[in-house]
Amino acid sequence: MNPTENDIYLDLKEVILAHENRNAFFINGIYYTYLDFAKAISNIRFALKNNTGKIIGIITNDDLETYAAIVAIWFEGKAYVPINPDIPSDRNQNIISEAGIETIIDSSETAVFPNIKAIQSKKIEPVAIDLEPNKIPESELVYLLFTSGTTGKPKGVPISKQNLSGFTKAFWDLGYKINEDDRFLQMFELTFDLSVMSYLIPLLKGSCVYLVPKDKIKYSYIFELMEDYELTVALMVPSILHYLRPYFDEIDLPKMRYSLFCGEALPLDVTTEWSNCLPNAQITNVYGPTEDTIFCTFYDYVRNGQNKSYNGILSIGKSMNYNSTIIIDEENNVLEPGNVGQLCLGGIQLTPGYWKNPEKNKEAFFNILYNNKEERFYKTGDLCKADENGDLLYIGRIDFQTKIQGFRVELSEIEFYAKEFLSKINVVVLTLPDDVGNTEVAMVIESKPFDYKDTIDYMKEKLPYYMIPKKVKFIDTFPLNVNGKTDRKKLEILFID
Ligand code: AMP
Repeated sequence: MNPTENDIYLDLKEVILAHENRNAFFINGIYYTYLDFAKAISNIRFALKNNTGKIIGIITNDDLETYAAIVAIWFEGKAYVPINPDIPSDRNQNIISEAGIETIIDSSETAVFPNIKAIQSKKIEPVAIDLEPNKIPESELVYLLFTSGTTGKPKGVPISKQNLSGFTKAFWDLGYKINEDDRFLQMFELTFDLSVMSYLIPLLKGSCVYLVPKDKIKYSYIFELMEDYELTVALMVPSILHYLRPYFDEIDLPKMRYSLFCGEALPLDVTTEWSNCLPNAQITNVYGPTEDTIFCTFYDYVRNGQNKSYNGILSIGKSMNYNSTIIIDEENNVLEPGNVGQLCLGGIQLTPGYWKNPEKNKEAFFNILYNNKEERFYKTGDLCKADENGDLLYIGRIDFQTKIQGFRVELSEIEFYAKEFLSKINVVVLTLPDDVGNTEVAMVIESKPFDYKDTIDYMKEKLPYYMIPKKVKFIDTFPLNVNGKTDRKKLEILFID
């Protein structure tokens, strides 16, 4: 079966029109119907008519217009770049120029970027509803997201309509029975691709999306939403479970039907405790990088039985339909099950390649004969092994990429800005477990101690909040390991009180 034979835009149009009186979104205590959504989409489309730009920015506010902008951009045959107004302006300006954005849809009271053409989506005169999508080839882009890059510059990952259609089809093939009575959690910033699953899947079935606004304390608001509004589907990052763990005894969510986790390693012990909070839910660990459109492998947690795990981390399972996974050694040879190597991904969901970055593309993508035909694969940087049944066991990273509350972070990007400020002084950025067992950023500076407030202030101007070191230590000289490299393990010891 051709995974993209259903047009997701036509499906969206039909679902929106067929559910006019039902709720599409719950945002900050207010419900918005599919009719409200249809109107907002149509208004923004109207404002976009005659706009020749292919890539449109969206300021990611927590409101209906921001989500309507996504669908309006799609129906006009264009792609969106989410721009989070809470991250440093320098970084956003960098993204805007990299992506070649000339128009930004902005629902803020006053436009966030006065130097760029803004469509102020809350101020458009209402027009008639128009949900007929423009016809575009499947190869056209639908979004472009920027992830942390090693050299201080975020990397652009473009995703095509074919990639996204492939994801939705592969997702439905997993057997999820979602309907208009479902209530979905949407806890992700729109700059993070897990958000796409959390709004698109419900909108394709006429369900309601319950938003976690940015200004709320995430885990407690999630808990409230799940309990007070009896949410039925939730995709979360495992970090949330660590925050919720002290309250597990009080949490009882019998209405929850599907609880999915993605973005970070999922510990088996916490999952087992969590399973008691939602006695009727199927719990699934899903895995995938932004480059492979949201997620591409899945493992269903087994209640009251054996679960596959490695070092206490739940298996990430097998690839979804229309996707391929292989494990390779350092010479790109495909390894047999049981051998540890780098996980590589291929198939319908794979990005056409990094945005204007031939060098990175050469490093990260390669072609290989797979099932007797040439296929393109992406090197994830994740260390895995497959068991005899083909289930993948997640072992760790081969590089210094890490996850902070689910956000992808290159430690060298943080080091880049610290060194830029400190000029000749060397620094190493590490991750440490915090009080609840999540990961936090720490920095060691090779120097006699000094007041580092200016350094941190500078980093705050350049980097999003989750990349700012929470702890700083000084050392005269970095210790070296047997290979002559900085011994990061020894530096971690500095933080043990
Ligand atoms: P992102 O591009 O932000 O989605 O990050 C992708 C990376 O997150 C992967 O390469 C993994 O290192 C990590 N990741 C995503 N899902 C999982 C999972 N279920 N288990 C372990 N690591 C994961």
